Amino acid sequence: MNKYDYEELLNRSIKSLPEKLTSRERFQIPHGVIFYEGNTTVLKNFADIAGDINRDEQHLLSYLLKELGTAGEAEGERAVFQGKIPEEKVQERIQDYVQRYVLCRECNRPDTKMIKKNRTLLLKCEACGAVHPVKARKTKRD
Ligand SMILES: [Zn+2]
Repeated sequence: MNKYDYEELLNRSIKSLPEKLTSRERFQIPHGVIFYEGNTTVLKNFADIAGDINRDEQHLLSYLLKELGTAGEAEGERAVFQGKIPEEKVQERIQDYVQRYVLCRECNRPDTKMIKKNRTLLLKCEACGAVHPVKARKTKRD
């Protein structure tokens, strides 16, 4: 193997490592930028939020739609919900999502990955190595 190949290989393996979201500072749950357009609620930084927490946009979107009890879709960088939804409600749901699907329950860091094992959804922490099942919500909020 010549030098070039080796370096290229090394670069590639570095690139394929999971990106660390944060350094040592406290993780801030992303804040939604929300405004209203006609009779819809627009979450302007939807794609950024999904990127910040390293989660699939579709997964985040379906969670928000279900929890907000509305229909909607992703449109490029933003998500558009039917109806005028109070801003606090959207922020709360974003926080819920992060608590539930992103933050490690041991060390509270966001450097986690969702994995599926025997049809159970698990959260594996890359920072401390803890593995937890994703908590199912016990009571339905309406
Ligand atoms: Zn952890």
